[in-house]
Amino acid sequence: MSTAGQVIRCKAAVAWEAGKPLSIEEVEVAPPQKQEVRIKILFTSLCHTDVYYWECKGYTPLFPRILGHEASGIVESVGEGVTDLQPGDHVLPIFTGECKKCRHCLSEETNNMCDLLRINCDRGVMLADGKTRFSINGKPIYHFVGTSTFSQYTVVHEGQVAKINPTAPLDKVCPISCGICTGFGATVNVAKPRKGQTVAIFGLGAVGLAAAEGARVCGASRIIAVDLNPRRFEEAKKFGITEFVNPKDYNKPVQEVIVEMTGGGVDRSVECTGSVQAMISAFECVHDGWGVCVLVGVPKIDDAFKTHPLNLLSERTLKGAFYGNYKPVSDIPNFVNKYMNKELGIDMDKFITHSVPFADINKAFDYMLQGIGLRCLIHLDA
Ligand code: NAD
Ligand code: ZN
Repeated sequence: MSTAGQVIRCKAAVAWEAGKPLSIEEVEVAPPQKQEVRIKILFTSLCHTDVYYWECKGYTPLFPRILGHEASGIVESVGEGVTDLQPGDHVLPIFTGECKKCRHCLSEETNNMCDLLRINCDRGVMLADGKTRFSINGKPIYHFVGTSTFSQYTVVHEGQVAKINPTAPLDKVCPISCGICTGFGATVNVAKPRKGQTVAIFGLGAVGLAAAEGARVCGASRIIAVDLNPRRFEEAKKFGITEFVNPKDYNKPVQEVIVEMTGGGVDRSVECTGSVQAMISAFECVHDGWGVCVLVGVPKIDDAFKTHPLNLLSERTLKGAFYGNYKPVSDIPNFVNKYMNKELGIDMDKFITHSVPFADINKAFDYMLQGIGLRCLIHLDA
């Protein structure tokens, strides 16, 4: 029996308060409105951005809320005006969107800062009517980055949905909807190291290791990894990283250590930590004259990036990127096809180190907080 047009009752992991374990609740999910799609989520994984907005240390609190943005699923029904998606389509919801009409989406610079659907961590409602599609006994439950994938069903704007090859394994491609593209794209689309160059990667979570994979694929000669957590170095050995630096092992700033190791600085650096100190180090460790640093980590509200202007005058370049500069709707179907055809050179199994049933979603938070493993796949149907 079709559920289209009806309220669906299903399980969702609700964050009621900052830092308190999520609780699995029965929620009502309203039908999709104009330009919206309702998706049955099969797999979701935890990214550090979810943890920041759950902890809310230095981020705007908004509760009760359904977090989650790295996921895969199947379209259940579509709202008015949706023509490119239909029930049964295999999809990845994506935290930043593409309306295909605004000056950003039409820009030849291929950036993905859509005027309508760019990432917004502070909005908890849908754009169509400023309301939530989730409720418990009529009480609204807020959305997160327009995706809220810690729910068996969710409602997403069509511009935040990538329709993918139906033969792609939905469990394995789940991290493509955030961490993999974010890191890999930051290197291959934005930092663009040339063959034989040196690349420093700050932060060895899934995002940083995907950035390292990008460096390897581009033919980097040295990939220098920086992290405060020595446990991450073991994991990272599987990713072609050649050298490790733990800033805690030195009594001088890590940028100085890297400049010395490389005789003047790395050619490219990619920061994937969210620490403003690491962002500054990542910038200051690139070579003058040509070095490029790309920031990826999500900073806190009151962070400020401080460096001497001479570091820029000396012809270093500082950039930043959301979602690896991929256009979510236009580029991701092809990214998934390339993964399927083994053209990307990425092995997704190396990134998915843990797996839990939905009821154990809080374990995924524990793993991330303790820096254990990389991505933890949460099975919504289990
Ligand atoms: P993660 O927690 O798995 O990995 C982050 C790593 O950074 C950890 O291993 C941690 O030990 C390390 N780290 C923290 N502070 C450090 C410091 N000062 N110096 C060196 N290493 C340090 O997180 P993740 O899921 O891989 O996400 C990484 C970052 O990317 C987060 O800030 C996340 O919010 C951000 N992110 C950005 C985008 C985007 O589009 N720009 C998308 C997804 C995630
Ligand atoms: Zn993410």
